[in-house]
Amino acid sequence: MRVTPRNVRSRLTLWYVLVLASLLGLYGGVASLFLFLSLREDFDQNLLKDLDTVEGMLAKEPNGGVSLHSGHPDTAEPRIGHFIEVWSPEGALLYRSAVLQEEALGGPPVRGEGQRDPTPSTIRLANGVRARLASSVYHVEDQRVVVRVAYDEEKLWGELGEFGEVLLLGFPIAVLLAGFGGYALARKALAPIDSMATQAKVISAERLGDRLSIENSQDELGKLGMVFNDMLGRLQAAFEQLRRFTSDASHELRTPLTAMRSVGEVALQDQKSPAEYRDVIGSMLEEVDRLTRLAESLLALSRADAGHVQLQHEDIALLQLAKESGSVVEVLAEEKRQQIEIEGDADLVVTADRLILRQAIVNLLDNAIKYSPEGSRIVVRVQSGGNSQVFLEVIDQGGGIPTEHQPYVFDRFYRVDQARTREWGGAGLGLSITRWAIEAHGGVITLSSDKDHGSTFRVSLPLAKHSATSEPIGGSQ
Ligand code: ADP
Repeated sequence: MRVTPRNVRSRLTLWYVLVLASLLGLYGGVASLFLFLSLREDFDQNLLKDLDTVEGMLAKEPNGGVSLHSGHPDTAEPRIGHFIEVWSPEGALLYRSAVLQEEALGGPPVRGEGQRDPTPSTIRLANGVRARLASSVYHVEDQRVVVRVAYDEEKLWGELGEFGEVLLLGFPIAVLLAGFGGYALARKALAPIDSMATQAKVISAERLGDRLSIENSQDELGKLGMVFNDMLGRLQAAFEQLRRFTSDASHELRTPLTAMRSVGEVALQDQKSPAEYRDVIGSMLEEVDRLTRLAESLLALSRADAGHVQLQHEDIALLQLAKESGSVVEVLAEEKRQQIEIEGDADLVVTADRLILRQAIVNLLDNAIKYSPEGSRIVVRVQSGGNSQVFLEVIDQGGGIPTEHQPYVFDRFYRVDQARTREWGGAGLGLSITRWAIEAHGGVITLSSDKDHGSTFRVSLPLAKHSATSEPIGGSQ
């Protein structure tokens, strides 16, 4: 069975009431104890004073008994709630207050009673009355007597009882008021949560641009709202990126498919010679190639996004890796009579995944070849960047990338000149794959480019711990 209420508001109120009730209970207990002690202290003081007074009033009777005399009738015995007994040390009762009648303040005095400083103690009379008693030894003329004075404690308990009643009456009222007040406060304090929940309910994938309204950005709920809004912002950005990526990818996939379809349709229209059919098949295969490359790039990016790529780290001499990458694109450069020069420090070693880093360098070289004129020179330079960094630069003599496009060239599907680049087969994914590969190795890639000097892509990677290695690095050339 569920005992605690479901909503926070009621739970807070319940806790509030419980804590307040316990504190009030504790306060009432402590206050009653202090009141009791202080009342009893007064009581005892009066008792001791009366014990002294009684001594002054003792007078010996001719028959050997003792009586009380007083100059002031007001202080004369008996007084309500005020009992006196006088005993001889041998155990003979010499005097007893009339109000006591046959009740006794205990039996005959025990040995040593009243000889020390009188200390009041509580006794219960035979009729059940609780009394505070003090006794002391005095002399009446030449006779030693034990004097006992007692007060009925009824008054003391009466006062304490009245105090308790006031407390008990006030207790439920205070708790009830605290409950109402606590509930109203909790309701007011938690109202922004209700409003946030109502607003959040209507935010869907189609309305990710909506934000929660925040009353006070400084308090805890305001901060919670801001965190939620930030999260919505990130979700919105991720959603938009995904949407763009999907529509760009389908667009890119459609282009070669449309090209293949129209080439095929044209070929089917009339009879062709075997050489013409070979041409048609050849251009269809080119489109298939383009599709394959695109599919591979998309796969690489989606695996990177999903974090499924496990890097196989090994120490690699960067210059050696640049040479390997150069040999991969050699044929393409030869087609355009371009010269690739790879130079730099052979001792600089990085810890990286060979295949992934090589793909990144190949992409840069591939772009340098594609976007530079025939017969131009492409330089790959490996050098120390200081601060435990290694630089690898790919420098071309192409037409460069206009400044306004430079911030976007690493974005997916971004092409500076849509029409021209598609002709060469680029889908605008090469640089985004390169940037992912470099960043996955803890590096950074930057671009400096202008019309007159071509483009320079600079990759900065952390130097491996043991960089001055002369160990031969294996790998295909
Ligand atoms: P693509 O596959 O189209 O080459 P990339 O992501 O590799 O895609 O490059 C994005 C765009 O940046 C290219 O379309 C091209 O316009 C521009 N670009 C990249 N490298 C160079 C370069 N070395 N010189 C001039 N433009 C470049």
